Amino acid sequence: MALIPLEEAQKHIFEQISCLSAAEVAVDEALGLVTAQDIASPEPIPAWDNTAMDGFAVRSSDTIGASEQTPVVLEVVGTLPAGAQPETPVQQGQAIRIMTGAPIPPGADSVVQVELTRSFAGTTSLGATSSNSDSPNPAAAPSEAEQVEIFQQVQPGTHIRRAGEDLTAGQLAVPAQTCLTPAHLGVLSSIGVTKISAYPKPRVAVFSTGDELISDGSPLEIGQIRDSNRIAIISLAQEAQCEPINGGVIPDDETAIGEAFLKHAQTCDAIITTGGVSMGDYDYVKVVLDRIGQMRWMQIAIRPAKPLAFGTVSGTPVFGLPGNPVSCMVSFELFARPALRKMAGHTQIQRLRRRGIAAEALPRRSDGKTHFARVSWNYSDGQFWLRSAGGQGSHQLSGMAAANGLAVLADSDGIAQGEEVEFIQLGG
Ligand code: AMP
Ligand code: MG
Repeated sequence: MALIPLEEAQKHIFEQISCLSAAEVAVDEALGLVTAQDIASPEPIPAWDNTAMDGFAVRSSDTIGASEQTPVVLEVVGTLPAGAQPETPVQQGQAIRIMTGAPIPPGADSVVQVELTRSFAGTTSLGATSSNSDSPNPAAAPSEAEQVEIFQQVQPGTHIRRAGEDLTAGQLAVPAQTCLTPAHLGVLSSIGVTKISAYPKPRVAVFSTGDELISDGSPLEIGQIRDSNRIAIISLAQEAQCEPINGGVIPDDETAIGEAFLKHAQTCDAIITTGGVSMGDYDYVKVVLDRIGQMRWMQIAIRPAKPLAFGTVSGTPVFGLPGNPVSCMVSFELFARPALRKMAGHTQIQRLRRRGIAAEALPRRSDGKTHFARVSWNYSDGQFWLRSAGGQGSHQLSGMAAANGLAVLADSDGIAQGEEVEFIQLGG
């Protein structure tokens, strides 16, 4: 069977994947989902002019000429905590004490921050403090009324957050096809939106097949293998914002395997199995899938993860990933993850590739394939530095566990220390 280039296999798979139907979702369940519709703000944010500072709402014209040496004294006619409704207007010669977020009272056109003021009550203290200033005649103020000295002239609009300065009513707040971050959920809550239309998390059934597999931690008999692929793939699906369905271990029995595929095809958006896809394999999975599904068995020009089966059972996409533990994880990264992201409405489905420097040689032999070496990278001196993460065999899962990237080694005799190399960043 001829080897297929990676990009061709990816194109073949991704073309057959479509986006799931959008559904209504509560905003507090929507982190990481992709929006299906534009969301406009129904109201201006902020809803009204309000203060960005604790201080005094004033008429800026009253502060002309104010300085530390020549403070202006205003009469304090009220207090506005955040959440209070402004009822008293600010008239000439007056100020209202105001807390961050409170609405600007009528008449005021600016806020003097509290650090640039000094307030006091009554004529006694006013007399004591204004003795060395040019402030208005203390006798003109009511005897026990609170007064405030203003130490700086302010321009109209100072420390006022204008209504609609963040979003105006009707303005696009979150466009369709946005992957929702914590900040987006904050925006949606700030405009009073509690439900949105988004693409659901793909439900992905994951099961292993094989009489040789055990998963209960009991001692191994000769020929037995512990099932590590299922937990690894379930976890990758979870990390990719999918809802994994644990299908367990299915015995080597055509009826049992057929039933598992047909059952999950009814209730899930995708099915992932591992093992039984190698060339010349006689495997029950292959026999069953060829009977009940439309599958293509591929050999891809990559290492690890050369064999791959992809197709559908009852219209549900099925990924038959290779059985070797590293191969199945790399295969998930290259094929299943982008396909699942496409189902979830993402437009950027593949991981970003970065460029780094090989901090040590990354050897390989020319074999007509692109290699995905398990590497560990760190960032220092403005560069990514890559080192081998350990054993590079497709059965050496500990090398995969130590890796935070896959170096993309084009067909060649390897990368020398100090050479530039492309890599895929792994992880959530
Ligand atoms: P296969 O692709 O079925 O020929 O499997 C290749 C190798 O992958 C097997 O010899 C096992 O060592 C390993 N393998 C298959 N399935 C699993 C599994 N569920 N967990 C861990 N290793 C597995
Ligand atoms: Mg097998």
